[in-house]
Amino acid sequence: MTNPSIAPVDIKLHKKSSELAITWADGIETILSGQSLRAHCACSRCRARNLIGTPLISDNASIENVMMAGVAGLQIIFADGHDKGVFPWAYLRAIDAGNALEHLNS
Ligand SMILES: [Zn+2]
Repeated sequence: MTNPSIAPVDIKLHKKSSELAITWADGIETILSGQSLRAHCACSRCRARNLIGTPLISDNASIENVMMAGVAGLQIIFADGHDKGVFPWAYLRAIDAGNALEHLNS
Protein backbone atom coordinates (compact mmCIF):
# COMPACT_ATOMS: atom_id res chain seq x y z
CA MET A 1 0.00 0.00 0.00
CA THR A 2 2.89 2.34 0.60
CA ASN A 3 4.03 4.19 -2.46
CA PRO A 4 7.82 4.67 -2.23
CA SER A 5 7.68 7.89 -4.27
CA ILE A 6 5.63 9.54 -1.55
CA ALA A 7 8.13 9.03 1.21
CA PRO A 8 9.31 12.26 2.79
CA VAL A 9 13.01 13.02 2.64
CA ASP A 10 12.83 16.30 4.54
CA ILE A 11 10.28 17.81 6.88
CA LYS A 12 10.53 21.36 8.17
CA LEU A 13 8.15 23.13 10.48
CA HIS A 14 8.22 26.90 10.10
CA LYS A 15 6.63 27.97 13.33
CA LYS A 16 6.58 31.68 12.60
CA SER A 17 4.56 31.34 9.43
CA SER A 18 2.88 28.16 10.69
CA GLU A 19 3.79 26.27 7.58
CA LEU A 20 4.88 22.72 7.14
CA ALA A 21 7.32 22.14 4.30
CA ILE A 22 7.84 18.59 3.11
CA THR A 23 10.25 17.49 0.43
CA TRP A 24 9.36 14.14 -1.09
CA ALA A 25 11.42 11.36 -2.60
CA ASP A 26 10.16 12.30 -6.06
CA GLY A 27 11.54 15.82 -5.65
CA ILE A 28 8.24 17.59 -5.14
CA GLU A 29 8.03 20.12 -2.30
CA THR A 30 4.77 20.60 -0.50
CA ILE A 31 4.00 23.57 1.71
CA LEU A 32 0.92 23.28 3.86
CA SER A 33 -0.48 25.92 6.19
CA GLY A 34 -1.66 25.14 9.70
CA GLN A 35 -5.10 26.42 8.77
CA SER A 36 -5.35 24.05 5.84
CA LEU A 37 -4.10 21.08 7.85
CA ARG A 38 -6.46 21.83 10.72
CA ALA A 39 -9.38 22.01 8.32
CA HIS A 40 -8.39 18.65 6.84
CA CYS A 41 -7.77 16.85 10.10
CA ALA A 42 -8.88 13.27 9.53
CA CYS A 43 -9.38 12.16 13.15
CA SER A 44 -12.75 10.60 13.82
CA ARG A 45 -14.11 13.66 15.56
CA CYS A 46 -13.17 16.12 12.81
CA ARG A 47 -14.38 13.76 10.10
CA ALA A 48 -17.74 13.43 11.84
CA ARG A 49 -17.95 17.19 12.12
CA ASN A 50 -17.21 17.61 8.44
CA LEU A 51 -19.77 14.95 7.54
CA ILE A 52 -22.59 16.74 9.32
CA GLY A 53 -21.58 19.95 7.62
CA THR A 54 -20.17 21.97 10.47
CA PRO A 55 -16.49 22.15 9.68
CA LEU A 56 -14.34 23.48 12.43
CA ILE A 57 -13.42 27.11 12.47
CA SER A 58 -10.45 27.46 14.73
CA ASP A 59 -8.89 30.80 15.42
CA ASN A 60 -5.69 29.18 16.54
CA ALA A 61 -4.72 26.63 13.95
CA SER A 62 -1.02 27.32 14.00
CA ILE A 63 1.19 24.27 14.24
CA GLU A 64 2.71 23.71 17.64
CA ASN A 65 4.67 20.59 16.82
CA VAL A 66 4.88 17.64 14.49
CA MET A 67 5.89 14.10 15.31
CA MET A 68 6.39 11.00 13.26
CA ALA A 69 3.45 8.67 13.57
CA GLY A 70 5.47 5.53 13.04
CA VAL A 71 6.32 5.16 9.37
CA ALA A 72 2.79 5.96 8.28
CA GLY A 73 2.74 9.71 8.47
CA LEU A 74 2.78 12.71 10.75
CA GLN A 75 0.98 13.53 13.93
CA ILE A 76 0.35 17.25 14.05
CA ILE A 77 -0.19 19.12 17.28
CA PHE A 78 -2.04 22.38 16.78
CA ALA A 79 -1.80 25.44 18.99
CA ASP A 80 -5.44 25.08 20.02
CA GLY A 81 -4.48 21.82 21.72
CA HIS A 82 -5.87 19.46 19.11
CA ASP A 83 -3.47 16.55 18.68
CA LYS A 84 -5.65 13.70 17.50
CA GLY A 85 -4.91 14.01 13.83
CA VAL A 86 -2.56 11.62 12.10
CA PHE A 87 -1.84 12.63 8.54
CA PRO A 88 -0.63 9.76 6.35
CA TRP A 89 1.89 10.79 3.70
CA ALA A 90 -0.46 10.16 0.81
CA TYR A 91 -3.11 12.25 2.53
CA LEU A 92 -0.74 15.19 2.93
CA ARG A 93 -0.03 14.99 -0.78
CA ALA A 94 -3.76 14.82 -1.51
CA ILE A 95 -4.43 17.94 0.60
CA ASP A 96 -1.76 19.78 -1.36
CA ALA A 97 -3.24 18.59 -4.65
CA GLY A 98 -6.69 19.73 -3.58
CA ASN A 99 -8.29 16.30 -3.56
CA ALA A 100 -8.26 15.42 0.13
CA LEU A 101 -11.95 14.53 0.13
CA GLU A 102 -11.60 12.12 -2.76
CA HIS A 103 -8.67 10.57 -0.94
CA LEU A 104 -10.70 10.05 2.24
CA ASN A 105 -13.66 8.60 0.41
CA SER A 106 -11.69 6.23 -1.78
ZN1 LIG B 1 -9.20 16.25 14.35
